[in-house]
Amino acid sequence: MKKITTLLLISLAAYSLEAQTLIQAYKNRADQVSQTNVTTLLQEFQTLGVKTTGSAANTNTLNWLKAKYQSYGYTTSQITEDPFTFGNNINSKNLIITKTGTTYPNIYVIICGHYDTIMGPGVSDNGSGTSIILEAARILRNIPTEYSVKFIHFSGEEQGLQGSAHYADNVVFQNNVRQLNIKLVFNIDQVGGKITNNNNAIKCESDQDGLAGNNAQSLAITQQLANCTALYSPLQTVMSNTYSSDYVPFEQNGDIITGFYENTRSFNEHTVNDTFANVDPTYVFNVGKAAVGALQHFAVASTSLLGTSEAPVHALESVKVYPNPAKDVLNIELPESIKKFRVEITDLSGRLLITKENETKINVSDLTGGAYLCTVKTGDTTAVRKIIIEK
Ligand SMILES: [Zn+2]
Repeated sequence: MKKITTLLLISLAAYSLEAQTLIQAYKNRADQVSQTNVTTLLQEFQTLGVKTTGSAANTNTLNWLKAKYQSYGYTTSQITEDPFTFGNNINSKNLIITKTGTTYPNIYVIICGHYDTIMGPGVSDNGSGTSIILEAARILRNIPTEYSVKFIHFSGEEQGLQGSAHYADNVVFQNNVRQLNIKLVFNIDQVGGKITNNNNAIKCESDQDGLAGNNAQSLAITQQLANCTALYSPLQTVMSNTYSSDYVPFEQNGDIITGFYENTRSFNEHTVNDTFANVDPTYVFNVGKAAVGALQHFAVASTSLLGTSEAPVHALESVKVYPNPAKDVLNIELPESIKKFRVEITDLSGRLLITKENETKINVSDLTGGAYLCTVKTGDTTAVRKIIIEK
């Protein structure tokens, strides 16, 4: 017994040591998560409606996801579907995007989250995780990783993990024989926060149920997830336990799992209130940075700053709009170099309410209380920020 404990401690120490130092290339890529992209993805997710598994909106969302991956440059051979049927002939599909590793092409790091929703558009549960997986895939497409990566969007989660169970039991395993070797499963579910909460921390979830006997590895991986969160995002971390999401069917088959879940729960999940107006896009942006940092660590991404086609973050990404919430005046803070710009404020249905040229103090006293979008444009680049007007 004692011997086992010592070995375990040594392996845990080795695990956490590798994650302790910041890798500049990883940070640069984590910083490529774009607030504008995240905000736009969350809005588009809202527009797709209530994505009940098997519904037309559910299929439309699958097609929206596929189009995103194609626009990022993923090829047809990298994009596969996993169709499944359950209940009273309900049909849906998981979407799997595979990026092949350089050293361990047959060992996979899975980053996943569900895209189906119930009752509402599910902008937090789980448009937030969906948006982060998309940003991670966009940023890392051309970055070599030693391990293969699968970006997976599950459906049927809200009906009892139907999609992930199908994938774990019929793709990862076939007739109880393992077909895919998985290093770990990193699930992201409901990280939207609530706009009125102080969303400064994220729950890092480890497996504590003891079914598969791999709790120690899950804890070690989750500690690395927390370390990466501290290194690559401004968020604090809270260690927690895995619970009722798409990692569970993998865990039941013996795989090592970890996950992110919002620390201060919105309680908007599974209601009509899980909308863009109620989520905190800055929180999703910060969780995205943590996820991109951690995914690079798990998949052992190239640490080289040179020789890759890494697009610089455009100048407008640093735009700050404050205070938020605002009452009468909204301040726009831009990089010094930008002199000519346009500010547009629209409501959430896209109706243009205010337009100003080259003004950094915007009078918003005529707006009624609620959520709006503030778009700053210069040349052909734009930055989009969600703002709250409080009256
Ligand atoms: Zn969920």
